[in-house]
Amino acid sequence: MAPSPLKTLDKDGSEITTVGFNRFGFDCEVPLNTLRSLYLRSHYVVPTDAANAQDLDEEALESEHARFTGGNELYQSKSIYHPETHSISYTTLSRFPPVKLLPPTQRKRILVTGGAGFVGSHLVDRLMLLGHDVTVLDNFFTGSKTTVNHWVGHPNFELVRHDIVQPFMIECDQIYHLACPASPPHYQFNAVKTIKTSFMGTLNMLGLAKRTKARFLISSTSEVYGDPEVHPQSEEYWGHVNPIGPRACYDEGKRVAETLTYGFQRQDGVDVRVARIFNTYGPRMNPYDGRVVSNFIVQALKGEDMTVYGDGNQTRSFQYIHDLIDGLIALMNANESRPVNIGNGEEFTIGEFAELVRDIVEKVQEEDGVKPARRVQIVHKPIPTDDPQKRRPDTTRAWESLQWKPRWTVRMGLEEMVRYYKARMAEGSI
Ligand code: NAD
Ligand code: UDP
Repeated sequence: MAPSPLKTLDKDGSEITTVGFNRFGFDCEVPLNTLRSLYLRSHYVVPTDAANAQDLDEEALESEHARFTGGNELYQSKSIYHPETHSISYTTLSRFPPVKLLPPTQRKRILVTGGAGFVGSHLVDRLMLLGHDVTVLDNFFTGSKTTVNHWVGHPNFELVRHDIVQPFMIECDQIYHLACPASPPHYQFNAVKTIKTSFMGTLNMLGLAKRTKARFLISSTSEVYGDPEVHPQSEEYWGHVNPIGPRACYDEGKRVAETLTYGFQRQDGVDVRVARIFNTYGPRMNPYDGRVVSNFIVQALKGEDMTVYGDGNQTRSFQYIHDLIDGLIALMNANESRPVNIGNGEEFTIGEFAELVRDIVEKVQEEDGVKPARRVQIVHKPIPTDDPQKRRPDTTRAWESLQWKPRWTVRMGLEEMVRYYKARMAEGSI
């Protein structure tokens, strides 16, 4: 399947054809379709009705695959799904999308911890396309090799299985420190491990930044504001966090990670950046990680009840992944060492959000000529302990310091994500 010819309009109604920007003396724009070719592609599914599909010889499979990819196979690994045996065959990539050829003065050695996770893998795509040398450190607790396997074998790329709770030595110029489970079910699965990752992992990575004089960016979170008494939340707000509740391993973990970061800045002169990320969604989000966007889309696509926790009046603000990556790259390269909120101000009650997701799933199904037997229902389940009542970023600082603001509407991002999950379901991997 060729990359989907989706037309995406930004908040002002203009078409989005590139992501990234040309500021701070460097150009980090990337065509959206190149990125899409990395995540919206589908595996080629051997047709079930083909006689002896299992017996197709290599050459026949090659030509079937070429037909399927419509000439775009150049940038795609070959992964062929066999429904009869529910198995998949991979062919190692020998061609990669073109990456920028940077002069040595501009080419950076960049370490991305948690680079096989949802956010990390999108950051890796960008940094690779921009021509940098990228090393991913990941223990694959919530991430997966499949999110970055399209770069394995590229001379600019290294994937290392490593738990950041243990020290790690490497020479590098920039560290994007993302490693930490982010969904409530995952970070509560082993609370002590989450705190160790936040504290010891961040300590190890800051030690590395100190030794190598690398610039260090940590992905902090809106959770540092807890259940906020101030709305919207600006970076000046110190937060309202329960230090002993089930969310504390993550919230307090990130708070102490920020404390460590500024400790290393004050004491050792480490060059630091702190991104406070608000709820972000997009392709490659683990469909079963329990977060609201993945839950709602998968439930609606499968025709199951959509589970709203509590009365659904709690609010969240949702940002699309490409906006976040723009913000992270801008922050890393700008001259702003204070914490910066990166999020989208479009705020929804969770009840409204469930309806929006249901509408979008129905629209995509209609466009694809699918008519579900019945409309999915929205049902209510108990609200988890300490679930924050409201959340919306004040992004004034991001605009003043980085000239960054979100471009994607929630609707546009959701449409793309629905198509992504739909493709994964068609191939049998969801
Ligand atoms: P994710 O769970 O998809 O990715 C986290 C990655 O870190 C995974 O690949 C996981 O295997 C790896 N990891 C976890 N513990 C590790 C350890 N001890 N050693 C090495 N690797 C480890 O989550 P995500 O949504 O991609 O989040 C990435 C970062 O962004 C996290 O730090 C998270 O706190 C932050 N963040 C995300 C959001 C969001 O909405 N996605 C919001 C706020 C903050
Ligand atoms: N939520 C929900 N149904 C779900 C999953 C989550 O109603 O299936 C709610 C959850 O209680 C919270 C909001 O959606 O109020 C966002 O939850 P998520 O786990 O995505 O992230 P959080 O912002 O709480 O870390």
